[in-house]
Amino acid sequence: MTHSLEDINAKVKAIAARNPIYAEISQWVGDLLSATVEASKDFRPSDLKLNFDPLPEAWYQGKSLLNPEELSLDWEAVSALYKRLVELVEKREDGRRQAEGLLKAIEEKHNETPVVMKAALASNFEAIEASAKAFNIDSPVLALLLRLSLRPSLLIIAQAVLEHLDLSLWHHGHCPVCGSAPRLADLSGEGGKRRLHCSLCETAWPYPRLRCPFCENDNREELSYLRAESEEGLRVDLCGRCDNYLKTMDLREITGPVILPLDDVATWHLDIIAGKNLEDKSEGLSRAT
Ligand SMILES: [Zn+2]
Ligand SMILES: [Zn+2]
Repeated sequence: MTHSLEDINAKVKAIAARNPIYAEISQWVGDLLSATVEASKDFRPSDLKLNFDPLPEAWYQGKSLLNPEELSLDWEAVSALYKRLVELVEKREDGRRQAEGLLKAIEEKHNETPVVMKAALASNFEAIEASAKAFNIDSPVLALLLRLSLRPSLLIIAQAVLEHLDLSLWHHGHCPVCGSAPRLADLSGEGGKRRLHCSLCETAWPYPRLRCPFCENDNREELSYLRAESEEGLRVDLCGRCDNYLKTMDLREITGPVILPLDDVATWHLDIIAGKNLEDKSEGLSRAT
């Protein structure tokens, strides 16, 4: 979903009011995000052949419509946006140190495509981390810049594809458009219906509340959740079978819409809580054996 600059500003303010610890980082990510929205006009609607009438039978069986690794994007526009974002990073304290490495990171290409961009499309976080190490830059900053520079193309594609899909027919835990894993969930409406948000193309689709999207486990005894102290509307859902977790925003308590890149950084403490929980669990297990 595309968001306006006003939506982004309102979200940045709401995050700062809710949790002042995130005021600075959310302002920074909001500025980067606004730059991607301003750049979106340089991206043409995709020339993908969107011939999905009828939909391939495999989609109903759970095969996403697109494979992000195979997308041919306008790499010139994507790289130009990436460079614009690096300029914004450079203005920050400590940014100068990173800028040079960040620019080098996209120089290695395979068939015109920067290799590390391909890694971002494939959600290959090990490859991104290796590249960050090689160029002496912070891996989360590299990952964020890659994701944001790919964002306009991916959102345009997802929007075009979604016109062909009836999401109520999709019952899987991965994205119906691009097949990537969800990064956040939200609850809304009466009874709190759950939607998952794709980590890559930001498509949102409905999914049962009491089922793990990563392993489809629906045994209630293995599903639990944790909350940050004194924080309404935010929690992290845990699966005891596959040990994955999903951060959840309850939009009956927190004002929407979800703007994934911003809401993701403004809930880092939930990633920490989930990581800590997993550590405690594995310690418990090793004590028990
Ligand atoms: Zn997706
Ligand atoms: Zn699971």
